[in-house]
Amino acid sequence: MLNAELYPPERLVAAQRATAAVGLDALLVTPGSDLRYLTGYDAHAQERLTCLVLPARGEPTLVVPTLERPAAEVATQHLKIVDHQDGDSPYPLVVEALDGPLSVLALSDRMWAAHVLGLRAALPTAEQRLAGEILDELRMRKSPAEVEALRAAGAAIDTVHARMAEWLLPGRTERQVGADIAEAIIESGHATVDFVIVASGPNGASPHHALSDRVIRAGEPVVVDIGGTMPSGYCSDSTRTYVVGAPPADVAAWYAVLHTAQRAAVAAVRPGVTCAQVDAAARDVIADAGYGPAFLHRTGHGIGLDGHEEPYIVAGNDRPLEPGMAFSIEPGIYLAGRHGARIEDIVVCTDGGVDVLNTTPTELAEL
Ligand code: ZN
Ligand code: ZN
Ligand code: ZN
Repeated sequence: MLNAELYPPERLVAAQRATAAVGLDALLVTPGSDLRYLTGYDAHAQERLTCLVLPARGEPTLVVPTLERPAAEVATQHLKIVDHQDGDSPYPLVVEALDGPLSVLALSDRMWAAHVLGLRAALPTAEQRLAGEILDELRMRKSPAEVEALRAAGAAIDTVHARMAEWLLPGRTERQVGADIAEAIIESGHATVDFVIVASGPNGASPHHALSDRVIRAGEPVVVDIGGTMPSGYCSDSTRTYVVGAPPADVAAWYAVLHTAQRAAVAAVRPGVTCAQVDAAARDVIADAGYGPAFLHRTGHGIGLDGHEEPYIVAGNDRPLEPGMAFSIEPGIYLAGRHGARIEDIVVCTDGGVDVLNTTPTELAEL
């Protein structure tokens, strides 16, 4: 069902206006976060074409496979829907819905290549561009309802981190701990588990290590990065670093550097500060302590209907922050062959500064 506060129907009009403003003729949007953002419809991406045809001016049309029509009608109450039977090419329906001479079309960034090429064959003279040019700009600035949906996602994932002592015990494997975490992510209110990273000891030095059969030992750091998607469509993503038992002195010392860096980047967030400046706020602390090369990724990524989206908190991104932008602050220090650590919170830029959506403590957690 359409949640009109989270997915207001006026978004289609805003997207049309933005499409016209950059001189594009239409947006073609297949299932995924862009379609959900524009219509509230959480459609399934597949070989059968579902495509929102949104001309810069004129009436939007949703092209769907006949068997998806009932679901599409429930999800999108105000849209004109046309359907195609299995065995018929769906692309002529898109051409018909566009209704007019077209020179430049924008396709959703994550459209399947099979559909991109199908559309190219049906509209051979139209230039294809990425809809992200238009939609990223809209999606990046969250409405108050979206911020509340992200806050609910943050609160849900926080309850999972708060229970870590139940599962993270010496003698258990990363995979065993990960299975318990995945179950808890669903119990906490998420609709899906998107990823579970439990990276113990030397595995912590690989930022996107997932799970292995390695047995967790007392005294070593364990990086736990977890996230899922709420029934609202909005995502969670939070990392904490744990030690089972007391940490060795060297671990405590470099973790303190990371903690200072993460706090500095969070404190730097306010309107007008650039994404690159937020990245530098974390990176400078880590580099000054001599760990510069060990912080081997950007400081953060936007989050919303996708787990990773604009704006990216990275050197070279001179985009100034604006109220409503939501993103992660997740510096890490990775020492190959030894161990790693990362701290990740989701934050929102507000009129006055920053709103931190994850509230579990960021100190090295001794279980
Ligand atoms: Zn990541
Ligand atoms: Zn993240
Ligand atoms: Zn993460």
